Amino acid sequence: MEFSSKLLENAVNEVSQLPGIGKRTALRLVLHLLRQPEQQTLELAESLQMLRTQVRYCKNCNNISDRELCEICSSTKRDRTLVCVVEDIRDVMAIENTGQFKGVYHVLGGKISPMDGVGPSDLNIVSLVEKVKLGEIKEIIFALSSTMEGDTTNFYIFKQLEGHSIKTSTIARGIAVGDELEYADEVTLGRSILNRIPFENSLKGS
Ligand SMILES: [Zn+2]
Repeated sequence: MEFSSKLLENAVNEVSQLPGIGKRTALRLVLHLLRQPEQQTLELAESLQMLRTQVRYCKNCNNISDRELCEICSSTKRDRTLVCVVEDIRDVMAIENTGQFKGVYHVLGGKISPMDGVGPSDLNIVSLVEKVKLGEIKEIIFALSSTMEGDTTNFYIFKQLEGHSIKTSTIARGIAVGDELEYADEVTLGRSILNRIPFENSLKGS
């Protein structure tokens, strides 16, 4: 792609780093921004900069938060003895949308995936085990997507928690194997949390 302007080329190159955005789409987006009022682009740039430099993670659940403790963890209405283990914030948002879960979350920050070079130590697993050791948690619900990586991660954590007297369960699978949680419809996802099954049962036949 030949550019008449180095400034334009730089902007297109930066935007095209985003997932799913090729050079052509990047060019279209950048030209769009140039046609909009200058203020709009400056606000976009500022919000991204603020997000990047000021983002915080809840010290209890690792969810993205503006404060030390996220709204869910600091709410008095949530049951802290019930912890739902999810991959990332999109899963928290999907489950919150169902309105069916009154516990708290633990955000792992990914799934174990040797192919992508992601091992247990790259995820927030140690902090989960530490929390369980404190003795307040009664049940852990695994709500990772039902992919090979999700299953591997569940099993790894399940093994880490062996010997602690807590219940482990997994969300019932109205959700087809390979579906990502965030795409599951709210009714199905809500029901699958209510109808969760003991984790051991999910291992049988697999
Ligand atoms: Zn939190």
